[in-house]
Amino acid sequence: QAATPPILTTRNLTVRFDDFPAVSNVDLSIEDGELRVIIGANGAGKSTLLDLLCGKVLPSEGEIWLRDRNITGIGEAAIARGGVGRKFQTPAVFKEMTVLENLQIASNRYVKVRDNLFRRFSRGPTDRELAVAERTGLSSFMKRKAGELSHGQLQWLELAMVLSQDPKVILLDEPAAGMTAAETDKTAELLLALAGEHTVLVIEHDMAFVRRICRTITVLHQGSVLAEGTADDIEKNPAVIEAYLGS
Ligand code: ADP
Ligand code: MG
Repeated sequence: QAATPPILTTRNLTVRFDDFPAVSNVDLSIEDGELRVIIGANGAGKSTLLDLLCGKVLPSEGEIWLRDRNITGIGEAAIARGGVGRKFQTPAVFKEMTVLENLQIASNRYVKVRDNLFRRFSRGPTDRELAVAERTGLSSFMKRKAGELSHGQLQWLELAMVLSQDPKVILLDEPAAGMTAAETDKTAELLLALAGEHTVLVIEHDMAFVRRICRTITVLHQGSVLAEGTADDIEKNPAVIEAYLGS
């Protein structure tokens, strides 16, 4: 009997923009409940890799598998329904709407009637909405307009919106970017709590933060995987030092 495949696998994943290989021959194997961090210099292809994994960008070559299902090219919506949630670096929330309304939009409890006009299905929060708000520290901000939140809270709201869909795999692009030290600490705690229940892929620069949250790091360099290993392995690796950490 074959072993169960990992939750997320890529084989030879490649995308070229014109002739430029932004992501090149990437083989990833992410285990259930793993929290994997991707590091690499600006332009290394980190965000494009997440774009490929969530279906926003189509690969030029290679495959993406979610467990035993080939999800290559099935489209962004189908991948999201399949259980992959993506949070972008810049929060994309409705600032004129409350925290609860944003969560309701994320859990499809609002229908978009036309641009900027939504009809609400029901008023109160669901158990799931309460749970994700609790988890992300937003319980007492449910009735606040999103535009009134701090930068850190906005990032958490977007994470809460992703969580409200209960994704199996969560893709996060620099979730602690621009946060205060206290907010960064809270984000580290939150990510550690999410791993296990979910599988989490995080792009992150701050090695102190990376050390706190993960066991295995993947280093991208010019679109390819340069190294994979623990923070200790990575920080001793001459190729990584030359390409990234030494700069
Ligand atoms: P990172 O997130 O590691 O900083 P990106 O994935 O954003 O890097 O970009 C990797 C490379 O691909 C960069 O050289 C960038 O300019 C290029 N790139 C990204 N998206 C596109 C695009 N849509 N069209 C052309 N080039 C792109
Ligand atoms: Mg990026």
